[in-house]
Amino acid sequence: MGVAPVKRLSTGAEAIGRGAAEGGVSLVSGRPCSPPLAAVLAAAACEGVRTERAPSERAAAVAALGASLAGARALAVLSGLEGAADALHAAALAGAAGGLVVLAMDDPGLALGPVRSDSRALARALELPCLEPSDARECLAQLAAALELSERWATPVVLRVTARLLLEARPIELGAPAPRPAAGLRRDRARRVLVAEHGGTLAARLEERLGQLAAEGVDSALNRVELRSRALGVVTSGPTYQYVREALPEASTLKLGLSFPLPSELVRDFARAVDRVAVVEEMEPVLESEVRAAGIPCRGKDGLPRLGELSPELVGWALSGVARPARPEPPAPPRPREACPGCPRRALFQALKRARAGVVADLACSAPGVFPPLAVVDAALAPGAAPALAHGAAAVLGPRVRGRLVALTSEESFLHSGALALAQAAEDGHGAVVVLEDGAAPPGERRADLAQLARALGAARVREVQVGELAACEAALREELAASGLSVLVARGRCPAGARSGAPFRVAPERCNRCGACLRLGCPALAEGTAAMAIDGPRCAGCGLCAQVCRAGAIARGEARA
Ligand code: SF4
Ligand code: SF4
Repeated sequence: MGVAPVKRLSTGAEAIGRGAAEGGVSLVSGRPCSPPLAAVLAAAACEGVRTERAPSERAAAVAALGASLAGARALAVLSGLEGAADALHAAALAGAAGGLVVLAMDDPGLALGPVRSDSRALARALELPCLEPSDARECLAQLAAALELSERWATPVVLRVTARLLLEARPIELGAPAPRPAAGLRRDRARRVLVAEHGGTLAARLEERLGQLAAEGVDSALNRVELRSRALGVVTSGPTYQYVREALPEASTLKLGLSFPLPSELVRDFARAVDRVAVVEEMEPVLESEVRAAGIPCRGKDGLPRLGELSPELVGWALSGVARPARPEPPAPPRPREACPGCPRRALFQALKRARAGVVADLACSAPGVFPPLAVVDAALAPGAAPALAHGAAAVLGPRVRGRLVALTSEESFLHSGALALAQAAEDGHGAVVVLEDGAAPPGERRADLAQLARALGAARVREVQVGELAACEAALREELAASGLSVLVARGRCPAGARSGAPFRVAPERCNRCGACLRLGCPALAEGTAAMAIDGPRCAGCGLCAQVCRAGAIARGEARA
């Protein structure tokens, strides 16, 4: 009697972590900038795969490419392809040695932020084959298929997933982890040195490879024709396949697991087997455009929205004439992100608020400065962008920027790309203040000597402050804002996670005049009591910031914790 396969309920993220172990991946490199991507890295680490946090998407992709060129299997975990586009297009030309898979996560529902990129379109622009799993089981299976395709065709392969797919659980069947040693570096200068002299050959080889992959896609098990009723045939890929099956159980389907390059012949055969064709996809009409370009009339985004996630109800309404689903109630606005009690960012934002400067910040360090009571951030756009935004503004405003503009960046964002902008600003001598957060990242994240780094990049005026000393921090900010030229303020603080600073603070009710200054810090440990403000002792991190803003002297450190 055979042994029954072991099954486990796993999210898409866990399935990919497991797939990395079973597929013999030697390196997973990624930037865990959102919970679903952090879950992929954590799952791979739990499965015993070597996993590293990269400072940027590009660094993750290039590290994975390096591992591949050394003959090992590698997985890059990215929030999208745009941040690594130049490196990935070079990789498409230079090719992979060990299997190289680029996991690209899209967020059609905009649950993680307003930036809406469609990795399917970018994979096409970068000429990289694209696989699209539709559930956790397929995440595991298609990672294995992508590694195999990558090695056989010597190309990086994109595994495109959505945020929802990474978080939804399905039972997956476990195989055995199968570590593989790296084969080692092999010289291949004609492919790996991207000089103009090699360009024509490499471009022709890439073109030929995509044509051959399109032909392979016709018979590939990754692409599946399911013939049911003749009346309607739906071409779909990724998670939307599940919506189609639920909404239109009678419809025939062509499920594209290997969606780029499009297997045009397979789509034509499918179209001949049904009376009418529809394309169901989230976001942009990427498949629809290709199906139309192949000469196949179809329905698509004329009935389905580009914005937001699809659902079985929307698909049923668009294609089978069932009643339009009731417009969902607009979701309640998300709870403003709140910093923990004792977060050093609270002190920094309080100092920035008092200094009355315009603030451009990196997203990673913008909370709690986005919403009241400490709303000081005027712009927070992309990782590492703040120093470059300030540099650009200073370049055109000249002396008018003095005293007005602060660029706030976290250590991670600075290493992502902000450092390059600082080097340029130092060279040009423009005059914004760049505040580098130092130490606010949770324990375990990387640490660099930021003051030394800023000096090495050419900043002549660099000073360090402790953000917990509010008056000194505010004074330093004002002085730097008044100075001419670029200045860098390294704002040191300590993330309180896991370690509190001594005894909690408490309010002496008889001294409190209820002025509200402490409440305007937005510390979750502080609340309005009946007679006076009150501090929740167990939540208080003991940072002492509230005591520094209380002019009545009503707040002081209490008894030591038991
Ligand atoms: S700052 Fe001091 S006086 Fe004002 S409300 Fe808070 S505890 Fe009371
Ligand atoms: S000392 Fe004050 S500001 Fe700091 S954590 Fe405690 S209550 Fe919050």
